[in-house]
Amino acid sequence: MNELTATWLALAAQAETQVAATAAAYEAGAMARTRFIETAAAAVYAANLQATAYADTAVAAWRLATVGLPTTSLGLLPSTDEQERLVRAFATITAHMHGVSASVENRSARVARSEPLQRGHRAYQQALRARGVDQWRRVVQPDACDDCAPLAGDTHDIAVDFTDHPGCRCTLAPVTAEGWADRQRADQLQLRRTWNTSAGQIRFSSGISIR
Ligand SMILES: [Zn+2]
Repeated sequence: MNELTATWLALAAQAETQVAATAAAYEAGAMARTRFIETAAAAVYAANLQATAYADTAVAAWRLATVGLPTTSLGLLPSTDEQERLVRAFATITAHMHGVSASVENRSARVARSEPLQRGHRAYQQALRARGVDQWRRVVQPDACDDCAPLAGDTHDIAVDFTDHPGCRCTLAPVTAEGWADRQRADQLQLRRTWNTSAGQIRFSSGISIR
């Protein structure tokens, strides 16, 4: 398993512990439903936020190593829609108690466990796309399940979403087109030249210039 996946899993485990404890308090009647929903959604969102930041930074580090020029992270963030989505998920878990055998704790823990890994993969793919990478390759663990094992090394267009299943430890790696690193380097050096104009001026489209 690579270190990035291990980090996402650690975030997931932490969120799961927090959410399970909160759900246990709710089920024991020690916490109001609204408070449970908000607390659980916030814990998972915080883990998703960190999973996104790690994905973004990992892609920046990969670009630095591959292109050989300074690279910033992109500043990716999960959208605020995701907070709403998590609130709805925990509201649903606590809404329909009849006919559901699994406890609120189990169902909540399952959400907390899967979210950071999924969000991490999504952010990683989003960061690759933003870097002009046009394909990704599925990386499968040696002990992968029968569904995933035959998919090892499959490459897909960057527009095709990475998919996994509960308990899946597959991940994705960038596949770059011939000359990608050279083009990235040339574009960045061109930017540097544009910035260092011979006149020592930065000219804005409004006509204002600063000497
Ligand atoms: Zn898998």
